[in-house]
Amino acid sequence: MDNNDLYCSFCGKVKSETDILVTGLEANICNNCIIKANTIVIEEEKGNTSQKPTNTNSFTQNNLNNFIPQKIKTFLDDYVIGQEEAKKTLSIATYNHYKRIFYNDAKNNDTEIQKSNVLLIGPSGTGKTILVQTLAKMLDVPLAIVDATVLTEAGYVGEDVESILSKLLQIAEYDVKKTERGIIFIDEIDKIARKSDNPSITRDVSGEGVQQALLKLLEGSTINVPPKGGRKHPDQDFVKINTENILFIAGGAFDGIEKIIYKRLNLKSIGYKATEKNKAFNKQEETVLKYINPKDLKSFGLIPEIIGRMPVFSYMNTLTAKELKRILLEPKNAIIKQYIKLFEIDGIKLSIKEEALDIIVKKAIEYNLGARGLRSLCEKILSDAMFSYPGSNKKTLTITENYIKKEFEKQEKSALLLS
Ligand code: ADP
Repeated sequence: MDNNDLYCSFCGKVKSETDILVTGLEANICNNCIIKANTIVIEEEKGNTSQKPTNTNSFTQNNLNNFIPQKIKTFLDDYVIGQEEAKKTLSIATYNHYKRIFYNDAKNNDTEIQKSNVLLIGPSGTGKTILVQTLAKMLDVPLAIVDATVLTEAGYVGEDVESILSKLLQIAEYDVKKTERGIIFIDEIDKIARKSDNPSITRDVSGEGVQQALLKLLEGSTINVPPKGGRKHPDQDFVKINTENILFIAGGAFDGIEKIIYKRLNLKSIGYKATEKNKAFNKQEETVLKYINPKDLKSFGLIPEIIGRMPVFSYMNTLTAKELKRILLEPKNAIIKQYIKLFEIDGIKLSIKEEALDIIVKKAIEYNLGARGLRSLCEKILSDAMFSYPGSNKKTLTITENYIKKEFEKQEKSALLLS
C-alpha cells in the first residue's frame, strides 16, 4: 500500500495532510485526533472523579494516615460536644472499617478482617445523628439516615429493608461504587426490638421479622435494589449493591434498658430516675449505660444475630447544663454563631449575655428535649427581633435575662388568648 493511501480513521485526512499519523492494526489516527481524544478522556475522568471515592480526598489506601482514630476524633470534636467515649469508639471503628476494606481488597492477605458495624445507645437529642453526619462529612462518603420504625418485613405495609439501600444509592447519585462505601445510619433500632426475650412466648412479626430482614444487609451480601425505592415488583429493573463494605451504624434510646443492666449487676435501680433528673444540672455523673453488654441488648429484644453483627457499641451521656451551653456556642456551626451571622447580614450586632444563655439551657432541661430544644428556644426568643429589626434603624440587639422573660411572657399571653 502506498503511504499516501493511509488516512486518519477518525477525521479522514490523508497522511500528507497530517503531521503525524499513527497506524494501528486496522485503523490509523492523526496527531489532531489524538489530542482531541486525549481531551475527551481527561474530561471523562474529571466527571467521574467526584463519584469515585478513590480519586477524591476521601479515604484511600494512600491517605490512610489522615484517617487514624485520633484525627477522626479531633474532627468530631469540632462539631460534637462531650460524648468522649462514643467519639473515641466510633473513630476506632471507622478507621478499622476502612482499613479492613483496603486490606481485604489487597492480594495475598491471609487473614480476612470481619465487618463490624456500630450500635450507639443513648437518649434522644444527645448527638447520635450529628455524630454520624460529621463522620460522613469527614470521610466524604454518602450517608443515608433511615428510621427503623418505617421498615417492615416483605409483604407487610411499610417499606422493605432494601429501601434503605435505594436511599443510599440516590444520595450517592446512583454511583454504585460510591454507594458500596457509604454509611447507613439506622435510627430508632430499639423500636424494632422483640417485645419479649422469649421467642416462644411472643412471636412478634413486625419487630423480629424486620430484624431478620436487616441481617442480610448487615452481614454483607449482594442485594437487588429497586433504584427508585418503593416496593419490589417483578417487572422492575434492579441495581445490584454489595453491602460488604457499607458501614452500618444503628442508634436508639433503648428506654428502660437501665433497669435490665441494674438487674444483671444486681444493683437496685431505686433512686436512679431521681439522680437522672438531677444529672443535667450537676456535673456529669456516671451513667449505668457504661456497663451495657450484649446480654442486656438481648433481654431488651434484639435478636442475637443482630447483636453479633454490631459488635462495636457505645453509649451517649445525657447532656449536662455545661455541655448544653457549650453546644450553643462552640461547635463550628453553633446555634448562636448562626444567629449572629443572620443578624450581621442585616448590619445588626447581636450579643447574648451569659445569664441569658443560662436561662436557655435551664429551659431546655426543663422541657427534657436534650440539645434539640435549644434551637426552638432561640427561635422563640429571637423571632420578634428577626421580624422587626431588619429595615429599622436599630443596629444592636443585646439579649439579657429580662429580654427573654419578656419574650416568654408575651408568647404565653398570646397562647392563652388563642386557647
Ligand atoms: P439524637 O440523634 O441523639 O436524637 P441529634 O444528633 O439529632 O440527636 O441532635 C439533635 C440536635 O442537637 C442537633 O441539631 C445537634 O446539632 C444538637 N446536638 C445534640 N447533641 C449534641 C452534641 N453532643 N454536640 C453538639 N450538638 C449536639
